[in-house]
Amino acid sequence: MTKTDWIKLESTYYMQVVNRIPLVLVKGKGTIVWDENGKRYLDFTSGWAVLNLGHSHQAVSNAIKYQVDNIMQMTNLYYTIPQLKLAKLLVDNSCFDRIFFSNSGAEANEGACKLARKWGKEKLNGAFEIITMENSFHGRTLAMMAATGQKEYQEKWQPLPDGFVNVEYNNFDAVKKATKKNTCAVLLEVVQGEGGVNIPDQRYLLDIQQWCHEKNILFMIDEVQTGMGRLGTLFGYQKFGLDPDVMILGKALGAGTPLGAFLCKERFSALEPGDHGSTFGGNALTTAAGWASLKYILDTDIPSECSHAGKYLKSLLDEMTTRHSNIVDIRGYGLLIGVEIAKNKAVDAMKLCLERGLLINAVRPNTIRLFPPLTVSEGEMNKAISILEEVFDELKI
Ligand SMILES: *Cc1c(COP(=O)(O)O)cnc(C)c1O
Repeated sequence: MTKTDWIKLESTYYMQVVNRIPLVLVKGKGTIVWDENGKRYLDFTSGWAVLNLGHSHQAVSNAIKYQVDNIMQMTNLYYTIPQLKLAKLLVDNSCFDRIFFSNSGAEANEGACKLARKWGKEKLNGAFEIITMENSFHGRTLAMMAATGQKEYQEKWQPLPDGFVNVEYNNFDAVKKATKKNTCAVLLEVVQGEGGVNIPDQRYLLDIQQWCHEKNILFMIDEVQTGMGRLGTLFGYQKFGLDPDVMILGKALGAGTPLGAFLCKERFSALEPGDHGSTFGGNALTTAAGWASLKYILDTDIPSECSHAGKYLKSLLDEMTTRHSNIVDIRGYGLLIGVEIAKNKAVDAMKLCLERGLLINAVRPNTIRLFPPLTVSEGEMNKAISILEEVFDELKI
């Protein structure tokens, strides 16, 4: 089978929902992935903000192998151990008291929204509406597309579930105005990842937090992309000095296995037996991987390594900016960095980087997103930036 054959299989059998990039990957280690011909690429997408410790990290691989040979799955009617160890580690290292595990970020957000609705029903005379932000991303289920404030995710699927109102990001007045008798929560990302690496003011986040507390509504942070060290702190809310009521995790939580979670403060822990559940959610395999990964992240202080690496990557980009006047903005925290350019050439840049062995993401037509593993080395960053610079030269950016 050649690359052409695999691509043909996809176009014949798979639902055509993604315009895939023509690259067939068979192996990964650290920041490097290899295609079916043995060609190497630097993965500056971390398998989409999932592999914060890089591809096939030894601590994670060992935990998975052990768990596969022992017990992978049972119903949550019984106790399994990895789930409880990971629950304790996450709660002990955050401002939350309780957790529920799901299989994806979208599902974890759904669970958090159910929690908010239960709170509204019991404490706020049936309030059910959740305020979310324009340009946000919360997942692809019907309800989470209603929460996701981007028209292109919503229009085709009308009518979407009721109970979500999307307001302008980084505008506290918009949140105030949208708060009605029916409001039970505000849900937002501390940095919008899929929306283009958009960073709000700290004041805005603090104001919303205070507003939520005054109104007795839930302050919920979607950290599916920003969690697990990505911004240079274990969780993104810590970067901004926040104390949220609910946090949603996914992506890097399972270190490459499908795992999501939502956590809450005891005071808001409104769910009771029968209210929520999941067959696979928190199964022994995914939570063993998640525990091994989080333990390593904590023991070796990966967040501060990420913070250093992020500063280094930004310094290389800043230097590049002096030679490329069409770079208009470099923004981000830790290793979630957006490079905005004056022209809509992000897709062209992504394609040329691919030819030269670097995987990046064109998150917007005019914005490139760099989100390598948090373990990326200086040498790898130098190499990536030299490729990016060649490509920017060629495209006259
Ligand atoms: C990726 C992402 C999601 C959706 O996660 P899935 O696992 O794809 O359902 C939700 N919220 C944010 C902030 C994300 O980046």
